[in-house]
Amino acid sequence: MIKNYLTIDVEDYFQVSAFEECVTHKGWESYPSRVENNTERILSLLEKHQVKGTFFILGWTAEKFPQLVKKISSKGHEIACHSYYHRLVYNLTPEEFRQDTRKAKDVLEQITGRPVLGYRAPSYSITKNSLWALHILRELGFYYSSSVFPVYHDRYGMPHAPRYPFLWNLDSTTPQIVDMKGETVREILDYFATEALSGIVNKTSSLLLEIPISTSLVFKKNLPVSGGGYFRLFPYWFTRRALQQINNKEKKPFIFYLHPWEVDPEQPRMANATPRSRFRHYLNLHRTYERLEKLLHDFSFTSIDIQRNGLESTSKTKSSNDVSPAAANTMCASRQAPPEIPPFQLFRRR
Ligand SMILES: [Zn+2]
Repeated sequence: MIKNYLTIDVEDYFQVSAFEECVTHKGWESYPSRVENNTERILSLLEKHQVKGTFFILGWTAEKFPQLVKKISSKGHEIACHSYYHRLVYNLTPEEFRQDTRKAKDVLEQITGRPVLGYRAPSYSITKNSLWALHILRELGFYYSSSVFPVYHDRYGMPHAPRYPFLWNLDSTTPQIVDMKGETVREILDYFATEALSGIVNKTSSLLLEIPISTSLVFKKNLPVSGGGYFRLFPYWFTRRALQQINNKEKKPFIFYLHPWEVDPEQPRMANATPRSRFRHYLNLHRTYERLEKLLHDFSFTSIDIQRNGLESTSKTKSSNDVSPAAANTMCASRQAPPEIPPFQLFRRR
């Protein structure tokens, strides 16, 4: 059974981009938070189904609820970064983006004591207008991004980006997509992990792993089917069929995402939001928890976690399943310098 990737974007109902028009981050303190309870419900469900996930956590939320971050981490899930203030990347200057992302990464690392290697842009706002941000992610020590949604949408989207994990080559000012023909998703992730754990680290590194959200190919167009509002919009049988197609016909894992507020039909309503935003945010909230349970029953999932997955793949040749102190040091030391992986090496069979 193919293991798919489960990702949770940990933020509160009043922090979403759809409500930016009526709530800025300066007003967040005045709303009652529900993120702890909602995340706990998801954690219980994952525990029941023995599933690990990757949690992209907002820095602001982590700072306010450090015990929640510790709890997620202690249960074996991966902690990753979802910015500090949930501002759309293409609306920021490079310096604003750098400061926001560094602050969020630092907060998360101080809480867990482990390096944070993954980043997801608020509302998938890495688009053709904000590719400059990828250079800054590398500079800050991220190994991967999961910020591209290969669809058309009014707020996000790179409709022509690959539908499966790929590498960005950051050698030029405009990042280029590396041709990945012939490599499986698993090989790419394992490769990244083993290179990182082997200590191949160089400040001139030119590659960043990108893990796009999954889509279905329908009449040569990408249809979003793998999480969030689309999970609430489509009936469950449709989602299951689309995801089965990716696993069974295309023989690939899919990347699924959800927010804690999506399992909370009782959340306070934002009266001032536009009808479109209200429709997108409140649609079928009462169905999500039950659908998530079915999804966890019907498919196999894991976290992206290249540290954990790398250890699993290296443990085939080494005896230990734990992070050795040397490997942990290497990962920590690499915060300012992701691994150097020349593109040609990607095609070398290991
Ligand atoms: Zn978000």
